[in-house]
Amino acid sequence: MTDLRDVIIIGSGPAGLTAAIYTARANLAPLVLEGEPSSTSDQPGGQLMLTTDVENFPGFPDGIMGPELMMNFRMQAERFGAEIQTVKVSRVDLSTRPFGVWIGDPTAAQPTHQANALIIATGAQSIMLDLPNETELVGHGLSTCATCDGFFFRDQEIAVVGGGDSALEEANFLSRFASKVTLIHRRDELRASKIMQDRAFNNPKIEFLWDTVVTGYLGDGKLAGVMVENVKTGEASEFPLSGLFIAIGHRPGTDLYRGQLAMKDNGYLETVPGRTATDVEGVFAVGDVTDDYYRQAITAAGSGCQGALEAERYLEALHD
Ligand code: NAP
Repeated sequence: MTDLRDVIIIGSGPAGLTAAIYTARANLAPLVLEGEPSSTSDQPGGQLMLTTDVENFPGFPDGIMGPELMMNFRMQAERFGAEIQTVKVSRVDLSTRPFGVWIGDPTAAQPTHQANALIIATGAQSIMLDLPNETELVGHGLSTCATCDGFFFRDQEIAVVGGGDSALEEANFLSRFASKVTLIHRRDELRASKIMQDRAFNNPKIEFLWDTVVTGYLGDGKLAGVMVENVKTGEASEFPLSGLFIAIGHRPGTDLYRGQLAMKDNGYLETVPGRTATDVEGVFAVGDVTDDYYRQAITAAGSGCQGALEAERYLEALHD
């Protein structure tokens, strides 16, 4: 027998767990399928599990460690009756009602669970360089979020990898804190918009290292520098720095929904503007899986709350 739930939440970052808190307090007994800790790209608790100090989440004047914050979210959701399972969803079927959700074998005839409403909170991951020791160094000199971590690099020499709008935006923002920001780009031409380029070229704290790729990280437990290689000359060298920000793009966790939900050109889920409703009635998308603009824990949490309220109203109408 397939297990039928009113609400299933896929994903357990700030968006998913806020949706769980709200739907649990509305007596909807949500089931949260949180993913499996198999890799950095499928991390229960989301990106904050890979973050050290979080100083911009309101309510914590002294800051809080990312994993501790997520543990608090989780305990708060469980306190009101949310059930959290550490499993990876392998397939969803949004063409039937109730919606089908598979764990394990995606070819199984029957789904593992069915849900009257589905809240999708599968987040997005920063694309990484995939170099040795990368995961261990995140939060210890290596970062993917200037807004979150720039403050820790006051008067230090740091670098940003990438040549798109994100990289230039991060470099400009970081120049408020750092003494020098080097933009390391694999070509001799930027992909970023002209206005962002002009801003960066006119910023006296930003320098450019062209035609260069990062080939390795230096430092034991804390980033002390990077190995770089000029792609034209093949020349390799060490580049000392205390912080490196990777800004080579993000990948939303939307593979499961391809062909079933409307997506923007960049793969993020499309929702009704200002809301979390997708183009399938009863399916709501919250947090970074639909947000290619703010990408903050607090905005994800806010969106999780919105999704829960929309799901609650949808279910009320459905049961009436
Ligand atoms: P993006 O435009 O895809 O740029 C990614 C950059 O990273 C490119 O310069 C690319 O190099 C480089 N890169 C990719 N893989 C790499 C690798 N393995 N090693 C080294 N470098 C690598 O991504 P984005 O900058 O995150 O922007 C995404 C979208 O959001 C864009 O449409 C952008 O315009 C938009 N955005 C807008 C704003 C704004 O308007 N304020 C701010 C941020 C983002 P190549 O150039 O050689 O391919």
